[in-house]
Amino acid sequence: MLKGKTALVTGSTSGIGLGIAKVLAAQGANVILNGFGDAKEIETIRRAIAADSGVQVRFDGADLSAQDRIEAMMAKALAEFGTIDILVNNAGIQFVAPIDEFPVDKWNAILAINLTASFHTVRLALPRMKAKKWGRVINIASAHALVASPFKSAYVAAKHGIAGLTKTVALEVAEQGITMNAICPGYVWTPLVQKQIPDTAKARGITEDQVINDVLLHAQPTKKFVQIEEVAALAAFLAGDAAASITVAILPIEGGWTAQ
Ligand code: NAD
Repeated sequence: MLKGKTALVTGSTSGIGLGIAKVLAAQGANVILNGFGDAKEIETIRRAIAADSGVQVRFDGADLSAQDRIEAMMAKALAEFGTIDILVNNAGIQFVAPIDEFPVDKWNAILAINLTASFHTVRLALPRMKAKKWGRVINIASAHALVASPFKSAYVAAKHGIAGLTKTVALEVAEQGITMNAICPGYVWTPLVQKQIPDTAKARGITEDQVINDVLLHAQPTKKFVQIEEVAALAAFLAGDAAASITVAILPIEGGWTAQ
């Protein structure tokens, strides 16, 4: 159980991050939600998690592509809760295009949100974790932290970068009661995956159905999408005391994809 702990889950208004926030709250952690979306819907989500779990649930809509917004979010969270015991770097975006047509602004945004934001949250959360001699950093990377797919240069570069950041910082703090790991999901049916289907179809010259069956599910020997709840359960396990000796790990949860 995570009673008395505080968790910040970036990009938790949707998909995998929302699933992780719900499980951490159910296990007793106070939760700070973050992400974009309709204000009323987010408030409904916030209230529902708080009512279901009885913990404090706060929302911070910081744009993680902006360093000053991240710093403000972290300062507010630390002032309010004292420590961020469990930091889940989950926010992410995708864009699919051949490299010679890849929009420079998309490259910059993907690197900023999927990689650099985690550098900022980690550097700002670690001092209090060190003071408490307890901390968990869980980075939601991707199977694309381990292998590549064509037309996803920025995403694959950023996710490989997250794996490198995870290994490096985890070694730096290994003696201080802090673990840092990366979870590498295969394809999970979320808005991030749904939105990339038309561009993938265009880049590969195939239909959207072929993208789902011949590209996405073809990658995974199970021929099934990974479930949000499965990723959330792994994150919750890593957050707990039973996972104290799991650190510097790059953990696939991808139906066998990266063994091929
Ligand atoms: P999603 O689109 O459902 O959720 C993304 C979240 O990030 C949303 O809450 C969104 O509001 C937030 N976000 C986007 N830009 C932001 C910004 N600038 N500032 C703050 N928040 C921002 O996607 P998802 O599939 O749940 O993805 C979550 C993470 O999981 C991402 O890092 C993604 O790369 C990773 N992942 C997803 C899959 C998959 O198949 N869905 C597979 C492997 C890894």
